[in-house]
Amino acid sequence: MRDLEQIEKIIEKKQALLLDVSHKIWGFAELPYAETRSCALLCETLRKEGFTVEEGVAEMPTSFTGTFINGAGKPVMGFLGEFDALDILSQEAGNPVRCPVKEGFPGHGCGHNALGAGSLGAAIALKEYLMANGKPGTVVYYGCAAEEGAGAKQFMARAGLFDSVDFIYTWHPANHSGVDGKGSNAIMGANFEFTGVTSHAGGSPHLGRSALDAAELMSVGVNYLREHTIDKARIHYAYADAGGVSPNVVQDRTLVKYEVRSPKIAQVKELFGRVVDVARGAALMSGTVMKYEITFAFSDYIPNDALAKVAGECMKEVGAPKWDDEDYALAKAFLDTYNEETLRGIREQAAELYGSDRVDEVLAKPLDDAVQPYDPSDAKIVSGGSTDVGDVTYAAPTLNLRVATACIGNVGHTWQTTAQAGSRLADKGLLTAAKVLALSAIRTMDRPDVIARAKELVLRQNGGKYVCPLPDTLHPPVGRY
Ligand SMILES: [Zn+2]
Repeated sequence: MRDLEQIEKIIEKKQALLLDVSHKIWGFAELPYAETRSCALLCETLRKEGFTVEEGVAEMPTSFTGTFINGAGKPVMGFLGEFDALDILSQEAGNPVRCPVKEGFPGHGCGHNALGAGSLGAAIALKEYLMANGKPGTVVYYGCAAEEGAGAKQFMARAGLFDSVDFIYTWHPANHSGVDGKGSNAIMGANFEFTGVTSHAGGSPHLGRSALDAAELMSVGVNYLREHTIDKARIHYAYADAGGVSPNVVQDRTLVKYEVRSPKIAQVKELFGRVVDVARGAALMSGTVMKYEITFAFSDYIPNDALAKVAGECMKEVGAPKWDDEDYALAKAFLDTYNEETLRGIREQAAELYGSDRVDEVLAKPLDDAVQPYDPSDAKIVSGGSTDVGDVTYAAPTLNLRVATACIGNVGHTWQTTAQAGSRLADKGLLTAAKVLALSAIRTMDRPDVIARAKELVLRQNGGKYVCPLPDTLHPPVGRY
């Protein structure tokens, strides 16, 4: 039997189990670092499937590894699983009318319930394939907490968990299917705290030193700095503490949160240093004291071209999820929930992906039924967001795939995504993802040339060793995020 046929049979056999895991995690809808029940369910399922589970890795109670070794155990093949939800995005599964399961509660607005279950399917399928064919190899499922929080994978990389893995395939639920060939922004977040001296703002202003002045001077300074950064840099900030509500008191404390993004982690580090200099200047001008603390950082995602070529072929062979009329009708109902402005953006996006002459046709039945071809030149394009998968790409050969689990044009981090992530659309998407990931691993394991080239690409990126963008003293902010 061909490898794909074997994989399809295994996934069919495990279908009920995988969908049950996805639906249960969707229902738990747990926030970053608090994914206790989701983590327990995945660990329990892995153990039942014959994996050895290590819980609480890299100082995070809800991060874990599940390992299965066959024969001599080489090569070592990894899959990444995520399972955290987003706040306030609670919404009934499959319902295109706004109706939270629990008003104001978290929901799976990024579809990580399907992500975790799809990767689980890949790990189980690869394990069964190795056993059935008497092939040596190790399968590792990486249970990664808090992708929507301060991340887990950079802490796992710092702890050396990816050091002995030969290659990793992962995926993310999306509104189209294809290899993720674009880069992502690197990011660093920090809290800046200014301390001044209180005083009567009218009676003795000369005795006061305003921490609010300092925070505002920092904003002004950073806004001037924007003129002298690379085009793609982004700097955002929020006043977490503006010093209270009394204008007649000179404010003695403020806290401003900053996030700095650029296409490469090295650029982020350089720019962040300049932001710190601005904060120092603001403290000097206002006579206050500045302290800062880095709170999180993700390296940029670099698609591994060697793995992308293999996975691109496997995706074409497996094909996009097979949609039926009920799926198309549901997808159309979700597409129709977006306002005119969003729909204009969706039309532009659709024109780019499918050609301007096909926009009306595609949006009438808005589910991607093809696999977008892999284009190596996409690596030059950087999408605006950031992910901790970036750090894995700096630590080991890694490739991310996107598989359609929602309507074409669907916007992430919305109640619409929560609803679709718990629906038949995500079910089909995650089963497809499981097959593509497993097949990609099978097609890579017997190709030492591909593995060698994939590793060479990582060495070129990281200069010989993964360097965590976080200070050694920073621990995962479990319970504090
Ligand atoms: Zn996500």
